[in-house]
Amino acid sequence: LDVIPIPLSAITVFLQLGSKYAIDQMRDEAIQRLSYEFPSRLQDFDELGDQLLLIEELPGLYYDVIKLARNHNIPSILPLALYFCVACEDFQPELILRGILREDGTLATLSSDDQQACLTGYYNLIRAQAAETFTWLEPNQNAALFRQCYTPKTCARTRAKLLQGLWHPWPRCIALGSWDDEWGNDMCKICTSQAITHHNIGRKKIWEKLPSLFGLPIWDELTKHQ
Ligand SMILES: [Zn+2]
Repeated sequence: LDVIPIPLSAITVFLQLGSKYAIDQMRDEAIQRLSYEFPSRLQDFDELGDQLLLIEELPGLYYDVIKLARNHNIPSILPLALYFCVACEDFQPELILRGILREDGTLATLSSDDQQACLTGYYNLIRAQAAETFTWLEPNQNAALFRQCYTPKTCARTRAKLLQGLWHPWPRCIALGSWDDEWGNDMCKICTSQAITHHNIGRKKIWEKLPSLFGLPIWDELTKHQ
């Protein structure tokens, strides 16, 4: 597999030809590229960089990937593709409903089922991230999680500031976001290590239920046939 990004349109052709003429190699390469960028295991997700490596990153890509996954029965890539549609800084429900302009002026759109999956998924993720990934920021968790802290007032104040920064004026969807070292800057070592532990436990839980947050079957079911 060359580590050169190729357009999704080429991957689509691989899949079409691969199925039509039973060329497994083409279908395999297409699925390898897609599975690399939209993995079904958290450890593979954690190894992804900021940019796509094997597929060209173009406007509307995620919508097209979702359509491709539906048309060619590659359900294992759906949870992350849907997640990337909503876990962006400037998430806009209008785009989910209206579509995104591709470079050639055509519109990349989602089916109404996938629009619904995105919008309910976004809402589910916002709720789930507060309860799981960021449970350590919940003010009422202080007593339970940070019992050993020597500077409880300072550390609680730090967490209150972080909570405000992340959730205000509206929450960003960062349910699968990794621990940011800056978050520990103004907390004691004990609190930081507790927070990291619970952050990681939380995002593992989010990963496990990611498909269900978008109304999809569990991971095992999605990866069964690949
Ligand atoms: Zn502390």
